[in-house]
Amino acid sequence: MSDRVAEVEAQIDGLPFFRQPDWSSRYPGLIQGVSRRERELGFKAPPGVDEGAAPAAPAAPAAPVAQPAWERLRRATGFRRLVRCRQVHGSKVIGCSDEAEPGVDFLGEADALVTDRPDTLLTVTVADCVPVFLLDPDTRVLGLAHAGWRGIAAGVIGSAIGRMESLGAEAARLVVHLGPAVCGDCYEVGPEVPAALGIEGDPRFVDLRHSAAERLLEAGVDAEALTISENCTLCDTTSFFSHRGGDRTERMCAFLGGACG
Ligand SMILES: [Zn+2]
Repeated sequence: MSDRVAEVEAQIDGLPFFRQPDWSSRYPGLIQGVSRRERELGFKAPPGVDEGAAPAAPAAPAAPVAQPAWERLRRATGFRRLVRCRQVHGSKVIGCSDEAEPGVDFLGEADALVTDRPDTLLTVTVADCVPVFLLDPDTRVLGLAHAGWRGIAAGVIGSAIGRMESLGAEAARLVVHLGPAVCGDCYEVGPEVPAALGIEGDPRFVDLRHSAAERLLEAGVDAEALTISENCTLCDTTSFFSHRGGDRTERMCAFLGGACG
């Protein structure tokens, strides 16, 4: 369907991360990546959130955890504002177009963030779910989604693109990368997962990034503009945290921001 690409390991101010191989040269002002598995970086899921499990009901109050890891990332990347959210495997998107105070901003519950501001760094945390990086090079509208099977089934990808379009982006112009996530050989699931994703044949293994890519193409993204990371979070638990691999609180931080046009 689309190119599988080897991501490049890089560092910003001592913070190791993996990035899409071509974007930094094609879009010089853009910052994109997923932090490497390093416990001392300290990116954690908020307490009580068990990624991959059934969503907790009702939602706990949106209490931010301590934010030193995000503040370090903000300073290292030089962004005025960093935004983050508590991911709940839904389809809610938060737009970040407003002039806000500098610093790290916890915006509550959502699974995708969108901005048209080059001074704002979008972040989500992942550990098997798919980080979906979306950019419109013409309008500089950016989107970043956290897409597990529940979020994909709930329509988070289409919702994120719709919100980007409300800021002037066009789906047909988007450039998209699917970052490190659990691969189709590793992700063994019950029948509820293929049923929710509309996959026929009741397979025992599901490729989340394949399902995410299908949703992107359905939304109007050009297949030629889509790249998919070769990295699997469960095949390579040296480089990545994996919820399936036993990491319950630690996460990688996916980030996207800057001027891409
Ligand atoms: Zn794998």
